[in-house]
Amino acid sequence: MIIIITGVSGSGKTTLGTHLAKKLWLPFFDADDFHPTSNIEKMSNGIPLNDHDRIPWLEHLADKIQEWEASGGGILACSALKEQYRQMLQVVPQILWVHLKGSKELLNERMMTREDHYMKPGLLESQLETWEEPEYGLHLDVIKKPEDLLEIIMQSEKITSPGLHVGVIGMGVMGKSLAMNLAENGVPTAVFNRHVPEKEEKIASTFASENSLFPLLKGFDDLETFVKALDKPRKILLMIPAGVAIDQQIQQLEPLLDQGDIIIDGGNSFFEDSSRRFQDINQKGFHFIPMGVSGGEEGARKGPSMMPGGSKEAYDLIAPYLKKIAAKDANGKPCVGFIGPSGSGHFIKMVHNSIEYAEMQVMAETVHLMKYGLKLSYPEISKILKSWSGEGLKSYLLEITADILVTKEGKNFLLDMILDKAGQKGTGAWSLTTALKYYVPYSPLAEAVTARLLSSQKEDREELAALYGHRFGAFAEDKVILLEKVRNAYALTRILNHEVGFNLMEQVSKNENWNLEFSEIARIWTNGCIIRSTLMENMVTLFKENSSLLKTKQIKAKAKELRHDLAYIVGLGLQHGFALPVMSAAVNYFYGRITTDSSANLIQAQRDFFGAHTYQRKDDPSGKFYHSEWKS
Ligand code: NAP
Repeated sequence: MIIIITGVSGSGKTTLGTHLAKKLWLPFFDADDFHPTSNIEKMSNGIPLNDHDRIPWLEHLADKIQEWEASGGGILACSALKEQYRQMLQVVPQILWVHLKGSKELLNERMMTREDHYMKPGLLESQLETWEEPEYGLHLDVIKKPEDLLEIIMQSEKITSPGLHVGVIGMGVMGKSLAMNLAENGVPTAVFNRHVPEKEEKIASTFASENSLFPLLKGFDDLETFVKALDKPRKILLMIPAGVAIDQQIQQLEPLLDQGDIIIDGGNSFFEDSSRRFQDINQKGFHFIPMGVSGGEEGARKGPSMMPGGSKEAYDLIAPYLKKIAAKDANGKPCVGFIGPSGSGHFIKMVHNSIEYAEMQVMAETVHLMKYGLKLSYPEISKILKSWSGEGLKSYLLEITADILVTKEGKNFLLDMILDKAGQKGTGAWSLTTALKYYVPYSPLAEAVTARLLSSQKEDREELAALYGHRFGAFAEDKVILLEKVRNAYALTRILNHEVGFNLMEQVSKNENWNLEFSEIARIWTNGCIIRSTLMENMVTLFKENSSLLKTKQIKAKAKELRHDLAYIVGLGLQHGFALPVMSAAVNYFYGRITTDSSANLIQAQRDFFGAHTYQRKDDPSGKFYHSEWKS
């Protein structure tokens, strides 16, 4: 446990802290001892510190707090006058804040009696002005004797009944893995799963007892006991299917919760449902955090990428836990961050999945071209994909594809045994309807969804294939040259997939006033998630230059270099009977975006002809609408 005692100079933080440390067998630290010499000199000369002086000191203290917690806890006396400073210190989940208050006269009197302290009494005035009263923690009046203050702290709930810190509902693939990840990272975690009488019973308690290697994991088979076992404000993570299950689970929880408790929906809920729930739950005095989680089972277990939105206040309370279990980016920063209000966290997870659909589909198209057009074997393709990794195309999906291609079952490649019917669970299709709702061109990503739908019509495809005698033809061109073109087509399609996805985010962010930060979103997606890649890492910097990838210098040069190969491969593939939905939609989308004089003038003329829909004129920059009498 970490206890932080705050208050202005003279409030008695050190005295109380040292007594408390003895009682709780924890080490005591005085934040003043961590000031750099420059700060001490300023204070000794009666010059108040400014934020520029304080920030590095607080950052250093934040690192120390993490160290202390890792080694069993500690007590820190620190003025922490502003909320901003306290937030900087909120780097571990369980902090008991003790705020000392007193009258100006009493504090002044105490200051005058201190001899060997570098803080001059005149600074008290400025400290009292700076003090921002927090709403949380214990608030103690220092007019009371130190032993009474000590007693109040010792009786506080956090000390008398330290409970479980996080609760996870839903012991499926994701819930189990996240619970184990939390427990392994030192978070006392409660788990619960529903009962289906005579079918599924004692799922959570069995799971916890079967995982005795994780002593911090406690299983509950009764919802009320589960809720009661959690520290307040309670933090309850739902890892159950989207839709009605979420509403029902929230309904069952609400009567058991206290004001300020936090419900986190970590599943793939539709963001509009999450926005509605956010409003409802807030009105009832609870907090709601709709949170996208990516990385599948392995990510959840070892480090997912997480996209929490909704209540920022509640996010600050759960952030230390999320940061513990998240994947880390190249700089060691956790792949999690507050996305924005309302359902924005689930919205960006939906777009993430939609990009994921397109990334998977373009990989599938590429392998298909290599197998049937270039007549390469799976091991050859696998080797080529691995070499692409070293040529700037590294991605999780490329890596797993290279492995899939060489996985055998007996003498057969497992891939050849898998039926070509691709499933889907909502997020891809939701993105498409959202794009239409917000008038955002979405064709490459939409095609990835359509491709899955077509794939699932296997029987119909077989019937039509026989009817048309359709086959793929092999390419006659030089393999080495074609391979390079295929790689370039794949590379540019990937860039366009991301451009399309982020364009949707930009439009929705503008409409909903969410202020989504693309560079930060890309950073969260650089590790732990399914679409992590070198491109994503580049995007962290590219989005600082422009919110459209196509308008950044680096991508402009790349797209100019690769566009002819993409068009060539799409043309060649179509001529030889290959369906290339994402690649061909990507090149069409790209040409559509970079065309000045499009064919839409004729569309406008037709609309005006049959429906008097009016049109604007090239020779009238005012934007005025015209109508013509077309019939002679
Ligand atoms: P899962 O393995 O199918 O587990 C679902 C869990 O929810 C089970 O514990 C199930 O309990 C419980 N459940 C089902 N219906 C319920 C209801 N009506 N009320 C309460 N509990 C119910 O699913 P999962 O893969 O862990 O996914 C959980 C959520 O995370 C989903 O929203 C999913 O889309 C999302 N997600 C999944 C992945 C992934 O790779 N799997 C990745 C990111 C996000 P029973 O055992 O009693 O049925």
